[in-house]
Amino acid sequence: MLLGCHLLGDHPINCSMCQTASAEDSDHLFFICPLAVNCWHKLGIVCDLDLSLYDRILDAKSKSEWPFFMEVMVLALWNSWKMRNRLIFYGKPPSLQSWTLQFKNEVLLHSSYKETIRFSISSCLTML
Ligand SMILES: [Zn+2]
Repeated sequence: MLLGCHLLGDHPINCSMCQTASAEDSDHLFFICPLAVNCWHKLGIVCDLDLSLYDRILDAKSKSEWPFFMEVMVLALWNSWKMRNRLIFYGKPPSLQSWTLQFKNEVLLHSSYKETIRFSISSCLTML
């Protein structure tokens, strides 16, 4: 499991995104942290935390209605990471609203190269 990028030795670092005393590892930051849970809920993606990461993604994909699930998942994770870094490096507080806005912009940016994909994704984004 990946730990946060703090370089303070072997001691676990608490999550930057929430006020819990949870260690900031990849599982917490991307799937367990309350803000991460809200992001997945916003996307309608169900992440079964009892499964391994690989099986969790396959399970979520099988239950998702997103036409481009892996792109959506990767961009969701990427934007969670960027939101965490904006908090640490710029002091910008995280929020579901800012995450959603950044996620939509990122999806549109990545889908802009192909007209048919852009239309399909744009219609999905209106649900958020
Ligand atoms: Zn947290």
